[in-house]
Amino acid sequence: HDEQAAAKAAAIDADNGAPTIFDKIISKEIPSTIVYEDDKVLAFKDVNPQAPVHVLVIPKFRDGLTQLGKAEQRHGEILGQLLYASRIVAEKEGILEGFRVVINSGPSACQSVYHLHLHVLGGRQMQWPPG
Ligand code: IMP
Repeated sequence: HDEQAAAKAAAIDADNGAPTIFDKIISKEIPSTIVYEDDKVLAFKDVNPQAPVHVLVIPKFRDGLTQLGKAEQRHGEILGQLLYASRIVAEKEGILEGFRVVINSGPSACQSVYHLHLHVLGGRQMQWPPG
C-alpha cells in the first residue's frame, strides 16, 4: 500500500552513494558497542536488536558496496572476510551452536542503510521462513 510504496521510494533514493551513518560509526564519531574489529572489518551491536544477539558486520571501506546487489568480482575477498568475521562474532557472542546471517539488499528486502552489512542474529530460536 501507500506506506510501503513510500518506504520503497525512500529506500531507492537512499542508494545514491552518499555517506551513511555507518561512516560515523567507523570513525567513532558516533559511539557503538564494538564486538570485533580488524583493518578491513568492523562489527558492532545493532541499536535496535531483533534478537538477544544482533550484531552488524560491515566493511570499513564501502568501495561501491552500497548493497550486495552492487557487488562485483573484485569484492570477492572482502565478502569472504565479512562472512568469516560473522563466524568470529558468533563465537564471541556465544551463539556458535546456532545463528543466522542476513543481508537485506535493496528496497524490497527492507534495506535501510546503504553501506553493505551482514546481520548476525541469535540467542533465541529463530523461525523460518523469515518475513
Ligand atoms: P538494514 O535495514 O538491513 O539496512 O539494517 C540497518 C540496521 O542498522 C538496522 O537493523 C538498524 O537498527 C541499524 N542501525 C541504524 N543506525 C544504527 C546505529 O547508529 N548504530 C547501530 N545500529 C544502527
